[in-house]
Amino acid sequence: MKYIGAHVSAGGGVENAPLNATLIGAKAFAFFTKNQKQWSAAPLTQSSIAAFKKNCADNGFLPEMIMPHDSYLINLGHPETEGLEKSREAFNDEMLRCQQLGLKLLNFHPGSHLNKISHSECLKRIAESINIALEATQGVTAVIENTAGQGSNMGHEFEQIAEIISQVDDKSRVGVCIDTCHTFTAGYDLRTKATFDQTFEKFSSVIGWEYLKAIHLNDSKKELATRVDRHHSIGQGFIGMELFDVLMNDPHFDNMPIIMETPDDTIWSEEIRMLYALVR
Ligand SMILES: [Zn+2]
Ligand SMILES: [Zn+2]
Repeated sequence: MKYIGAHVSAGGGVENAPLNATLIGAKAFAFFTKNQKQWSAAPLTQSSIAAFKKNCADNGFLPEMIMPHDSYLINLGHPETEGLEKSREAFNDEMLRCQQLGLKLLNFHPGSHLNKISHSECLKRIAESINIALEATQGVTAVIENTAGQGSNMGHEFEQIAEIISQVDDKSRVGVCIDTCHTFTAGYDLRTKATFDQTFEKFSSVIGWEYLKAIHLNDSKKELATRVDRHHSIGQGFIGMELFDVLMNDPHFDNMPIIMETPDDTIWSEEIRMLYALVR
């Protein structure tokens, strides 16, 4: 069974996210548990937590199919002490918010070296940040998203993600989210069944299927290996429809959140219907 959804708005409170997901016919969803452009946020209230859980249960969303995304300000591989500590504190808070909401997954971009430290030092800091967060919380898996490799962002090569995981102490609570747009612009082709299989064979040998917890399903406004992160609507970008047809019919992607972060939210329900129609 495929669980398709989108990154929906939590405007007005986290309890609105499952309602917004229901409106577009989603079976999974992502959202921000706080304003993603600000460092600090008021703690979640008991009534908001209770309403979130009720709205999820009433609309058939299992915690396993809900994956919040952390704030874009956080850099768990920050080269400087102040930035690193601020990021770690904010990330721990995001993990705690997920725990309070009864959720199992938190998705984040690994981090950036900002041209001030080596790749391996940056990856080591990211792994340490994950270890700190896992120790401070319970039941939530830290899900590393692969990136397009824009600027000094780490995580665009599967080997870098494997290096982070190798330094995480509790491997039962670390996972990976593959973003199809990022994968493609990072240089891994996904346009045909043959190249899709090649890319995921590489994923399997370098990282391992057991770590795959979620998919971000996006087309790309930029060409292969451009290392630029610009999402496009399903089938409208440089990747094209074959990817989506192949993925929707591959059982490796059953029973995990498959989240669209496509730019035109007015066609999300149409995109979800179109994706389900691909299942043979
Ligand atoms: Zn993504
Ligand atoms: Zn992206």
